[in-house]
Amino acid sequence: MYDAIIIGAGPAGSVTAATVAKAGYRTLILEKNSRCRSPCAGYINSTINMEIPAGDFIQSKITKMRTYLPDSSFHDFVLNGFVVDRPSFDMSLAMKANDAGAQIKWDAPLTGLVPGSVKFRGGDAKGKIIVGADGVFSRTASFLGLKKQKIAVCAQYRLKGIKPLHDTAEIFFNTDYAPGGYAWIYPAGKDSAKVGVGVTGTKSPRMYLESFIRQSGVADRLGGRMPDSRTPDSRMPDSRIIEYITGALPVGGLREKLCFGNVLLAGDSAGMADPITGAGINNALLAGEIAGKTIVEALENDDMTLLPRYESKIKKLLGRPLSRSLEKRKKLECCQNNEILQQHLPGLWVTFREYWD
Ligand SMILES: Cc1cc2nc3c(=O)[nH]c(=O)nc-3n(C[C@H](O)[C@H](O)[C@H](O)COP(=O)(O)OP(=O)(O)OC[C@H]3O[C@@H](n4cnc5c(N)ncnc54)[C@H](O)[C@@H]3O)c2cc1C
Repeated sequence: MYDAIIIGAGPAGSVTAATVAKAGYRTLILEKNSRCRSPCAGYINSTINMEIPAGDFIQSKITKMRTYLPDSSFHDFVLNGFVVDRPSFDMSLAMKANDAGAQIKWDAPLTGLVPGSVKFRGGDAKGKIIVGADGVFSRTASFLGLKKQKIAVCAQYRLKGIKPLHDTAEIFFNTDYAPGGYAWIYPAGKDSAKVGVGVTGTKSPRMYLESFIRQSGVADRLGGRMPDSRTPDSRMPDSRIIEYITGALPVGGLREKLCFGNVLLAGDSAGMADPITGAGINNALLAGEIAGKTIVEALENDDMTLLPRYESKIKKLLGRPLSRSLEKRKKLECCQNNEILQQHLPGLWVTFREYWD
């Protein structure tokens, strides 16, 4: 019998597990993959009030965000953060949980959930408390009977042989290349950058990514205007692509309930990514810490009625910002062409003063 079973070795799951295991409780993490590999651009804002494990996963330092409006004018904002290689970052958090005493089962996707026990590929286990930290398509949430979340879909290349702006995260708003979202260029080491798009709707995000690289105002800088650019579906030459990832994130805001008896939801499984920026790492880390501390309190007092405190603490911290962001997203989705987007963007994007008015 485990004290806590955590589903998913992403930031939310590993931080929850580390916090519980550190207090001496028997903790198990079930991870569906053989290693950490969440698809992500890996921008983390330094405002995070947590000790980040040391490691060589930092790919670049960021001191400024440059936001481009549809007419290519831009707006600079000072901010401090860094871009990480997500698989290595997640792996270091998982190892930190492991060092604290948590057991990790890799290649062990959750396949069933009943009160007090879980089934996974290759076995089952009993646990006093279960945490669903299994991301945007959470099986834990489906086993609890919860609705699927509204998502944005993303595609990203890491390109080599280009010169990104120094220490700058670039964000591009344009309904042609990123309807319902934005495109980004994040420096990721010498002569390389992560170039991606996040969009809502049914069309393939890779198609938008290709158009951004080939046809937008930064196509020359990205080396996207190649001799074969006349062929509309010809893709970026493979020699320039170091990595391709695709993924999704929740943009429907925080789920109404985060605590279901002895089962908690944390991170993307609970809708904690910001509906406008799509950033979810910081909130997942924060939720993991709060979930872990609440679980320790419940175990120390042998009182599971303390678990709903997790939900109230999260709502107090994240409820307002996420619901404001959700309102902004609804407005962003009404901006169906570049003229309207140009006019309304300052009220809809976090680096403008108007967003906070
Ligand atoms: C392309 C892209 C770019 C992004 N860029 C950024 C960014 O720059 N900055 C930022 O802050 N956020 C970004 N995000 C969002 C960010 O990745 C998430 O918000 C964050 O990873 C949420 O952490 P989590 O721990 O809740 O979930 P995840 O990181 O998704 O971790 C969930 C874990 O659960 C595992 N799992 C899933 N199902 C099961 C199962 N059935 N059984 C066992 N294990 C399971 C998964 O393998 C995974 O390891 C991006 C997302 C995408 C898709």
